[in-house]
Amino acid sequence: MSKKLIIQVAVPSPLRRYFDYLPGKFTSTQLRVGLRVKVPFGHKKLVGFIVGQTDHSDLPASKLKAISEVCDNESLFVGHLFELLRWAAAYYQYPLGEVLQQALPVLLRQGQAAKLREHSVWFLTELGERIERDELKRAPKQWQAILSLREYLAKHDKPSGIISAELNLLGISRVCLKILEKKELVIERKVSYINQLNYLTINGPILNPEQQIAIEQILSAANSFKTFLLQGITGSGKTEVYLSVLEKLVVNGGQALVLVPEIGLTPQTVARFRERLHCQVAVLHSALSDAERLESWLLAKSGEVAVIIGTRSAIFTPFKNLQCIIVDESHDASFKQWDGFKYHARDVAIRRAQLENIPVVLGSATPSLASLHNVSEKKFQLLSLTERATGASMPKFHIVDIRRQKLHEGIADTVLQKVSQHINAGNQVLVFINRRGFAPMVLCHECGWIADCDRCHVPLTKHSSPPSLQCHHCAKQKPLLKRCESCASEQLVDVGLGTERVEKILAKKFPKIKIARIDRDSTRKRGALQEKLTAVQQGHAQIMIGTQMLAKGHHFPNVTLVIMLGIDSGLYSADFNATEQMAQLVLQVAGRAGREEKPGEVILQTHHPEHLLLQTLVNDGYTVFAEQVLMERQQAALPPFFHMALFRVEAVKTDLCAQFLSEVNQLLLAEQTALNLPTISMFGPLSAPIEKRAGRFRWQLLLVTNHRMALQALLRECLSKVEGLKSAHKVRWSVDIDPINIL
Ligand code: ADP
Ligand code: ZN
Ligand code: ZN
Repeated sequence: MSKKLIIQVAVPSPLRRYFDYLPGKFTSTQLRVGLRVKVPFGHKKLVGFIVGQTDHSDLPASKLKAISEVCDNESLFVGHLFELLRWAAAYYQYPLGEVLQQALPVLLRQGQAAKLREHSVWFLTELGERIERDELKRAPKQWQAILSLREYLAKHDKPSGIISAELNLLGISRVCLKILEKKELVIERKVSYINQLNYLTINGPILNPEQQIAIEQILSAANSFKTFLLQGITGSGKTEVYLSVLEKLVVNGGQALVLVPEIGLTPQTVARFRERLHCQVAVLHSALSDAERLESWLLAKSGEVAVIIGTRSAIFTPFKNLQCIIVDESHDASFKQWDGFKYHARDVAIRRAQLENIPVVLGSATPSLASLHNVSEKKFQLLSLTERATGASMPKFHIVDIRRQKLHEGIADTVLQKVSQHINAGNQVLVFINRRGFAPMVLCHECGWIADCDRCHVPLTKHSSPPSLQCHHCAKQKPLLKRCESCASEQLVDVGLGTERVEKILAKKFPKIKIARIDRDSTRKRGALQEKLTAVQQGHAQIMIGTQMLAKGHHFPNVTLVIMLGIDSGLYSADFNATEQMAQLVLQVAGRAGREEKPGEVILQTHHPEHLLLQTLVNDGYTVFAEQVLMERQQAALPPFFHMALFRVEAVKTDLCAQFLSEVNQLLLAEQTALNLPTISMFGPLSAPIEKRAGRFRWQLLLVTNHRMALQALLRECLSKVEGLKSAHKVRWSVDIDPINIL
């Protein structure tokens, strides 16, 4: 009798275990690890993944169901991708079935075949090439079409033919094309991808010595694992370094992955890579249609595109022959996924490079403290670009103490004078404030009552257009109030500044100047953002007011003054990461100023001018600032010296949260003793700094240790038991490994 065959399948389910299935009509070779299969699961049919074959199941064979369908004949997770995903599931303590599913484009998650769609491309036939006008005398439209095609194909030197969109541009109708095809003047071919190559190449600038060193170092690590931290301010030429490295590595079928923050993936970036590298470049980001995502993904897998530029989740793209990973703006928080599978794409990138045995380059003007720590631990090699490649000088910082100043609704007199100077000189001014709306708080002057969201326990933000009170945590809206809800007084005051209020103040002060306000509210309409940016770039708007949306990706050469309002919250936050993020933001926004010949100035308006870290940042620069914060982190036993895991829980009743977490705490303590693990400190259960969100109470339990492996082992042992707790079913819970905020 042959041995029994049991197939272990990971399905996308929150349960941290595999499920056993019988092979059904399939043989063991058809059921290899990594393949997608359709399986009955409860009353549903799910797309799952084969993770193993065995000859034993804890369930009797009569209870097992059979695999209904096999979707692939080869694994989609080529190279070391399956191994990477297994590692990620284990490291981030997330069910493998979910992890594998999330690594796939939506269409593949649904079980669609992993096949490229076909595109039609049209060519002239030999007859089409040489046919003469007389022969088409009675068909002037067809003759015109032939001429257009000849001209187009000659001009573009396109061995790749012409696609439908281009035919439309040439004014050749579908009907006309079909007639030409009948006459055998043109021919259609199906191709799996469209050749986007332009035959003109653009050469890069002559590189400075620092850039050359960086490139040499990275290239010398080709075909081996090494992590580089490329530190250089905006405009110091980091992108030129990436381009030169890739130029060398994406030859002979080599491929590269470039990760960028969500906001940084602009058409200009993609065009720059295409022009310079002269190879197939595809993008992967959330704004693509499902079909487009699938296409880029499959082209990378088959090796037909050389470079993928993508956001966070592109780290899980399959590659036939990956040679290098670049993570640009590597400190950016958008590389961390906030919900569900909470991975950090930068850390996954490093692990991936290690598995693939290739170099990985983390670029940043303001590297994360974790990366800088890795440099001092000799795990990363630092490459520095210390000057702006174009020769422009760095902006000069001023700290403006607003405690003893005359204020105009929250903006200092001296600040307004500066604005006036720069405008009069014909330059542009950027005002940064990371809060949209009119005012972040409405307060009763008589009794101190604050209008807050009853679902979140946070103050409501007043908005002037449309007039409303809005909760920025749960999006709840209320009409504006006439009276205090506590004492009925009409003396309600707007506290603090939002972008709308800053706009109003500046419009009153500078009535003749055009102002562009750029925040989520003012750019909701399609095309609105581009319109505003164009107004700024063409100089119609002299003042720009904006939120974080302005911090990245855009260059404003005529901006000579940057004003930053409302930075104080970053100085005194309950979150261990807040100062780091504040400093990164300040420098990033400052980097928008004075990029050309004109030197820039940056003003930080604050109530805490003496704050040591602020002073250090401004006077001594980011590196010294980072050293100081790292020292504080070490003393306080915080990351990157210590490792954290954070249990978060939410429920409609606060008791349910407390109950669940105290049971988790017991479990963890018991298991820690049983396994004889080194110290893991547990803080909590406590209610979260933001206690309530969208009607749910929030609690947390924080685990801190300097034994990462012990923490991993403890969680691995405990989580399936946590799943089984009765109290777990009454709450929403998750674990965040290496959390980057603890609010
Ligand atoms: P970063 O990526 O660090 O912001 P970029 O690589 O985009 O910097 O460079 C900024 C600008 O300077 C670009 O226009 C780039 O072409 C130019 N540039 C980069 N390196 C040099 C160089 N060595 N000589 C002249 N121009 C350069
Ligand atoms: Zn009141
Ligand atoms: Zn709310």
